[in-house]
Amino acid sequence: MCPTFPHLTDSPSVAGNSLTIGVLALQGDVREHEQVLDALGVAHRQVRNGNDLDGIDGLIIPGGESSVIDKLSHIFELREPLIEAIVDGLPVLGTCAGLILLSASLIGAIDGQQTFGGLDITVERNAFGGQVESFETTIVMPLIGGEPVKAAFIRAPIIRDTGTSTVIAELPNGDVVGVRNGNCVGISFHPEVLGESRVHEWWLDTVVANARR
Ligand code: GLN
Repeated sequence: MCPTFPHLTDSPSVAGNSLTIGVLALQGDVREHEQVLDALGVAHRQVRNGNDLDGIDGLIIPGGESSVIDKLSHIFELREPLIEAIVDGLPVLGTCAGLILLSASLIGAIDGQQTFGGLDITVERNAFGGQVESFETTIVMPLIGGEPVKAAFIRAPIIRDTGTSTVIAELPNGDVVGVRNGNCVGISFHPEVLGESRVHEWWLDTVVANARR
């Protein structure tokens, strides 16, 4: 039986489910994701090398700078074990740069930039423009009930080709900003910097809990 997560409004803690979530901690907004996991009462561990992947139930790839995270994943010899884990079905949630790193192909990559794969999508980096074009909004995500989800778009990507992935979030103009394919979920925006925990909660409840072996 897979455990399910009570909603925060019903219970202050989901810690009883004893999951451990890894947060890729090479660069980016690691702390904000840790704060969301703390708020949900979920144990977490920073992942910097292949050994850190052992025993985690899911992995969050934070936002930051995808080309830097790519480079550091080579230096820390994390790239190969991480790709293996993704192929093996490790549940992953990527936000912004994390989404870029899960993509099969990129528009606007820097020379030699690589990704881990996991989502058979094409993503355009910096699709809204530079830092000054960053914005906050709310998004209706049918998978997540209640109020629209709070979302910060910071030099964010847009998913230009969804492949066989399922769209889980789009902007009113039809731009796709969230997809799921099996155990991989990627979103263009940052809920975590706005204290929005419901995307993480949904991912833990729907993807991670059901993938548990
Ligand atoms: N533009 C960044 C990149 O290409 C992503 C920005 C972010 O993660 N907020 O990696």
